[in-house]
Amino acid sequence: MTKENTKKDTYSFKAEISKVLDIVIHSLYTDRSIFVRELVSNAADALEKMRHIRLTEDTGQENTLKIDISLDKENKIFSIRDNGIGMTQEELKKNLGTVAHSGVIEYLEKVKDKNDLQLIGQFGVGFYSAFMVAEKVEVISKSWKKNASAWKWTSDGKTGYSIEETDHDENGTIIKVYLKKDNELFIEKSQVETIIKKYSSFIPFDILIDEEKTETVQAIWKQLPSELKDEDYKTFYSFMWNDFSPPSFWIHFSTDAPISLDAILYFPGTNMEKFGLRGPEESEVSLYCKKVLIEPQAKDILPKYLRFVKGVIDSEDLPLNISRETLQDNSIIRKISRVLTSKIIKVLSEKMKKDKEKYNTFYTEFSRFIKEGVASDLERKEKLAQLLLFESLKNEEKITLDQYIENKKEDQEAIYYLMGADRKSLENSPYMELFKKNDTDVLFSYEPVDEFVFQNLMMYKDLRFVSADTQGANDISNEEKEKENKALIDWIKETLEGKIKDVKVASRLTDSPVMLVSENMSHGMQRVMEAMGNSGLAMNDDTSNETLEINP
Ligand code: ADP
Ligand code: MG
Repeated sequence: MTKENTKKDTYSFKAEISKVLDIVIHSLYTDRSIFVRELVSNAADALEKMRHIRLTEDTGQENTLKIDISLDKENKIFSIRDNGIGMTQEELKKNLGTVAHSGVIEYLEKVKDKNDLQLIGQFGVGFYSAFMVAEKVEVISKSWKKNASAWKWTSDGKTGYSIEETDHDENGTIIKVYLKKDNELFIEKSQVETIIKKYSSFIPFDILIDEEKTETVQAIWKQLPSELKDEDYKTFYSFMWNDFSPPSFWIHFSTDAPISLDAILYFPGTNMEKFGLRGPEESEVSLYCKKVLIEPQAKDILPKYLRFVKGVIDSEDLPLNISRETLQDNSIIRKISRVLTSKIIKVLSEKMKKDKEKYNTFYTEFSRFIKEGVASDLERKEKLAQLLLFESLKNEEKITLDQYIENKKEDQEAIYYLMGADRKSLENSPYMELFKKNDTDVLFSYEPVDEFVFQNLMMYKDLRFVSADTQGANDISNEEKEKENKALIDWIKETLEGKIKDVKVASRLTDSPVMLVSENMSHGMQRVMEAMGNSGLAMNDDTSNETLEINP
């Protein structure tokens, strides 16, 4: 049969498609390279379906399923070919001429002003992204079905398309994108390769650019943890984040409710923020849908204080749910974030119990972030507080708040803490005398941020946090003794007038003659700041607001 004689049918686009095209063509703010991702995904889908058919039917085919991209510099054509299932004439009309998902119009309304089409592939209209860069697109396709003929679909993306019979020897599809002016970068091999690596590294088929194979990687998150070795996780980690120091540990899990997803989350070995190597705004978690990158460094997928966690999330629920929910308020992202956050806290708390050493190493690097969480995540602050560790008067090794409470005195109604530069100065502090005498433990803190943590928590398991250098810590009243020593007290008051607020007798002192006690906690922090600059437990210069407790 000679194809020249066959008739060419023209059709106009349905209203919905026209709307899609209108927005696609005028979308100034979209990263145009996503059209490559969309066409590669479609080719991979077609290959995946073909692989499935080969498993269930005798097609007699054994050739390797692959994607071939060729870059025609002379004619400025980007073309992509697959040997997948292909399309019949009817399928071409249906698949490339109608909208399959109802959510698409809603989505387009949402992005109309932003012109950002990152998620276009989630709505069954990814193909049309080619018109961002094309003045004409040709789709040559031949279905895998027996005796199917080949068809050519052509469109300029304006009013409609035409279909005619054509020649094509194997089943599969070729999509020829005739590039508009200023889109020459899409015929540059290195550029195309970069795009493929960014979005399509995990496509489970060979991708060739001008006959040269590009590097692809296993999407290990889709495998079972039992199939994987530690080495696989580590290799994947260094590939993804270019971080060649090994991660401390990781979790690989899947969930079905409230959203179905597969995820691997890594807890790095080093806190890079410490070195100023990454900023607090960055996310290291990427969002995939069926192995195709949807959002690199996805924003809001974890609360800010968990930004040190690196990972990949793959959710097939993404397309359906996103089209149903409004995109703007990102409720799906929030749902994922909730799932991940509880999982991370749970894993850390298990780690703390089961692998103390590993947890301690992790804690030394990342305690900052946990503390940030206690101060910022109202809903989970108690859970996060369980992850905190402190040295104490009685424990040189770090203990948890729960351990502190387990070993507290029976009538003890507060969690006492004291801030200072180091263990030695806190142990020798006069404020500790009474606590030593009473055999009461006191948490030691060497970081000013802890003051915020305690202030934010206020209570932990019904116990208040009380700084050991405040009046709240002096639980014994001394009216009797104050009367006895009135003359001494008056003399000191007179002598130190303006320098201190008050003079009182303190029975908590046994060896030291006097100590200064502040009324509120923030003085404790000032002292730590000073102590870091001076040696030992330096005192605040301005004591006019403090009480001098004396040991008569
Ligand atoms: P989606 O991939 O989400 O369905 P697209 O707009 O990307 O939406 O593609 C529309 C449809 O066109 C696909 O569902 C598929 O049926 C068909 N299609 C696109 N590209 C190919 C291809 N390379 N091989 C076979 N069918 C294809
Ligand atoms: Mg698609």
